[in-house]
Amino acid sequence: MEDDIWVATSGDGLLHYNYTNRETHKITVESGLPSNYVNSVMYDNGYLWLGTENGLCRYNPADSTVHTYYSTLALSSASFNVNASCKLRNGELMWGTNNGAVMFNPDKLYHTQLNGQIYFQNINISGSSVRENQDLLRGIPVNKQTDISFKYDQNTLTLEVLPIGVSSKEIKFSWKMEGLDTEWSHPSSQQIITYTNIPNGNFRLKVRMYNNSLSQIVDERTLDIHVIPLYWQTWWFRLVIFIIIMSTTFFVLKFYINRLKQRHAEDKIRFFTNTAHDLRTSITLINAPIQELNKEEELSEKGHYYLNLAMEQSERLSNVATQLLDFQKVDMGKGQLFLVMVDIVNLVYRRKTMFKSTAGKKNVILEFVSNRESYMSAVDELKIEKVVDNLISNAIKYSHTNGRVELTLNCNEYYWSLEVRDYGLGISDNAQKKLFKEFYRGDNKVNSRMVGSGIGLLLVKNYVLMHEGKVSLESKENEGSLFKINIPYKEVVEVAPVEHEEPGNVTSADGLSDQSEYKQEDDRSGKRKSILIVDDNKDLRNFLKCSFENQYYILEAGNEAWELLQKESPELIISDVMMPDMDGFELCKLIKSTFETSHIPVILLTSLCDKSDQLEGLGLGAEDYITKPFDISLLEQRIKSLMRNREIVREKALKLIKPENDEQQVILANELNDQFVKKAVEVIHNNMQNLDFDKESFAMEMHVSGSLLYKKIKALTGQSPIDFIKSIRLNRALELLQSHKYTITEVSELCGYSSISYFSTVFKKYFGKSPTEV
Ligand code: ADP
Repeated sequence: MEDDIWVATSGDGLLHYNYTNRETHKITVESGLPSNYVNSVMYDNGYLWLGTENGLCRYNPADSTVHTYYSTLALSSASFNVNASCKLRNGELMWGTNNGAVMFNPDKLYHTQLNGQIYFQNINISGSSVRENQDLLRGIPVNKQTDISFKYDQNTLTLEVLPIGVSSKEIKFSWKMEGLDTEWSHPSSQQIITYTNIPNGNFRLKVRMYNNSLSQIVDERTLDIHVIPLYWQTWWFRLVIFIIIMSTTFFVLKFYINRLKQRHAEDKIRFFTNTAHDLRTSITLINAPIQELNKEEELSEKGHYYLNLAMEQSERLSNVATQLLDFQKVDMGKGQLFLVMVDIVNLVYRRKTMFKSTAGKKNVILEFVSNRESYMSAVDELKIEKVVDNLISNAIKYSHTNGRVELTLNCNEYYWSLEVRDYGLGISDNAQKKLFKEFYRGDNKVNSRMVGSGIGLLLVKNYVLMHEGKVSLESKENEGSLFKINIPYKEVVEVAPVEHEEPGNVTSADGLSDQSEYKQEDDRSGKRKSILIVDDNKDLRNFLKCSFENQYYILEAGNEAWELLQKESPELIISDVMMPDMDGFELCKLIKSTFETSHIPVILLTSLCDKSDQLEGLGLGAEDYITKPFDISLLEQRIKSLMRNREIVREKALKLIKPENDEQQVILANELNDQFVKKAVEVIHNNMQNLDFDKESFAMEMHVSGSLLYKKIKALTGQSPIDFIKSIRLNRALELLQSHKYTITEVSELCGYSSISYFSTVFKKYFGKSPTEV
């Protein structure tokens, strides 16, 4: 205390200077003084009593608090005179003021606690009072408001507060917006609290009312404030947008990566395919000499054994290459489905028999059980054969010696399923997941010593999927596996159900008789279809002839092929490209552009360096190309599928041949053939009611000979001219009947039938229903 000097100033409040540390500090209105004009100071009992222009106050140096005496009128309103104070002997203090002298005992001066409340006089939002907006008030008076909400664009708030129960002079206000401010505002007598640009969110405005000396918080109130953001400013909206952007980016990236991967995979597959193609050609060329060698009689037992081993391995390799080629077709979406009605029981049985010797080598017993003796369903025979082959060959391959493989066929009206069970190595759970997805090859003792590609099962899956079926697998390691395929029953209409009446059996009432004059041709080849092989190399011709003799009636020609074609009409032509006189391309062009021969399919045997796609580009119209040296089984497959395709094309043609189909629609790819069929249909339609219309008049109107008409119609539609006329007439009859506009008698006349009973018989035989039933 001795080091302190207290200086009263006029305008700067009370100054405090400390000798020792030479520090000065000010006590002013801010600290709670009634005025900065301090006119007299008196020390008493630890306190400094200050007479100011605006009343008396007591300052406590110990804790720097100021106490004022507003409630004592004489002390609060008087202006104290300069230096007019003294301490009396009895301890009382005496002061000179503009209102006479005041005298009091400092110890007995009454210390009052203020008692007042904060009153919310008004709330302005963006310049207008909430009183004008009843929605904001929600029926609550302004002073009672505890929380208030307004929109993001009304973000200026003004709160007017008033003290009640105390005089404004005695108090100070201070406030803090929680969430925005970090500190309380400096206490002041200001009664209007303003906040502008309040951000979105929830805040709490706290208002405090202090006494002047700030030693007492007289009252405190809060007002909760909610600034409602626009929906796009809300956190959930932003989250949703964020998620959408992230997921879109993710999917776009994924799509892009997938495309890259796919392109990469396609390149790879193309590379594999080309390699596989070359491999297979070479392997085929290796096989032939080995086979020849094997026939040598001087060869020792050991020699035969080694050769057999070599053959076995190279055949396996060749199978892998074939699988690879098949797979590429499916993968590129080029694998088409050629559905025909097939006896599934017979098919599985045949495949099982094929594996007898393979199973025999491991002493594996092959069993086949079926719940039906025969079951017809539409499938692509070659593909299903491959599916069955793959499953059986895997089952045998992964069986133990002396094992057993069970084939169970279950057929019903909705689907058929084939189970192939073995009791061999089995497949681990981990491997099962990968099996149908990748070119997966299990890690087992069989795979470690046998070639394979891991494509077999992928092919199985793809082929089954093409048939809209399912593949499933149950397996346990070291116990065995059960592969099951499930394929829905399907029906396709075979080539129109034409009844081939025995000659002379039914005497034709309409003058249409059977095709006896061409019967002889069919007899010559038995039931076999004829193939013409054109090649100047006699050895190759012989080789092909030997290979196909059992299945087809073979015609051969060297350079004189075209001459032969004037006489014969084979079902298919296989021609070499390289020939001295007329090469294969020229021959093919000639065949395809000549009306009499344009319907005959041609397979060209090309040399390795002619790329087949380039050949196709030449637009020669050949149905297929095979590069030499070729695998005879491949050629055989192509022949089969070409013949089968032709049946499908014929079927399609028959369906399309309807009068309402307009001229523009192309029924057959070859223009000559297309025009021919269209013309034929037109001629028959023009002669619909003509009772005397027979095959001779048909041929005449078509400007061709009877035999050529037969050949062409048969080749293009699978029917004889008479049957063709009949099916068109009957289809027309069916249409007329279904239109309900004509009686049966009228229909029979309109379609060229002289007697109703004959019409009914023929109709019923063709459609399975009598005209009356229809
Ligand atoms: P590959 O037999 O040429 O390896 P597949 O696609 O036919 O190719 O089979 C893929 C893999 O699936 C095989 O490597 C083998 O590990 C496993 N696998 C297939 N069938 C069976 C089976 N019946 N028993 C055990 N493992 C099998």
